[in-house]
Amino acid sequence: VRKRIIRAEKMEVVSHLAASISHEVRNPLTASRGFMQLLEQHHLPLEKRKEYIRIAIEELDRAEAIITDYLTFAKPAPECVEKLNVKTEIERVIDILRPLANMSSVEIQTSLIPFNVKGEREKFQQCLLNIMKNAIEAMPNGGLLDIYVSLNKNNILIRISDTGVGMTREQLERLGEPYFTTKGTKGTGLGMMVVYRIIESMNGTIQITSEVNKGTQVSIYLPLIQSLPYTSSTGKEKILAY
Ligand code: ADP
Ligand code: MG
Repeated sequence: VRKRIIRAEKMEVVSHLAASISHEVRNPLTASRGFMQLLEQHHLPLEKRKEYIRIAIEELDRAEAIITDYLTFAKPAPECVEKLNVKTEIERVIDILRPLANMSSVEIQTSLIPFNVKGEREKFQQCLLNIMKNAIEAMPNGGLLDIYVSLNKNNILIRISDTGVGMTREQLERLGEPYFTTKGTKGTGLGMMVVYRIIESMNGTIQITSEVNKGTQVSIYLPLIQSLPYTSSTGKEKILAY
């Protein structure tokens, strides 16, 4: 049975990405520090010592995973809304993920058209990264990651499909809920929340279909850019903020 869910307005949960990042990262750092302090105790049995070190490392890994889901492309400079070429941005993210795909024997196939959308580059890349990373992680024993771009009425469709483990209806419904993960301590449950938030900020919608043991398709619809970009004094094309 095919299951399908459409969501555009769901993410009132977290108002600002930036505000939540420091909070998210601080928790595991504080936990890690706590276990390191415990290690200072004298006469600590070797077993305990090993356990504390293991937990401290796990917490640091968690902090790293959270940063990956939020800030892979972040830059100190303020971001601006500009014209983005979906083909270029998708290719950039594929380059970054290729080693991960190779490790799981995931083949990447693309059919891309250089349409333009408007948005903040780093956020758009982060969104694509989170979706494609999930797709690769859903195929631990190999499979096909397919990325397809087309025009759908006045929208650009970016469809990211995998042949991975898929999701049950219950999982599909919880997707994007903060901290919902099926990956144990390796997951953050923040990746899709970030995705929804970013697509919403770009006035887009997202539709996900999935079937257990068959795979998942994530379809993103973004408004086709209105032409007439203005040229700024730096000569770089920018689009006025909406
Ligand atoms: P994380 O990847 O850290 O678990 P996400 O928010 O990125 O957090 O994803 C939440 C959950 O949604 C995942 O743990 C997984 O169960 C499910 N999921 C997301 N994308 C896919 C996919 N392409 N295939 C199967 N399950 C997925
Ligand atoms: Mg993820």
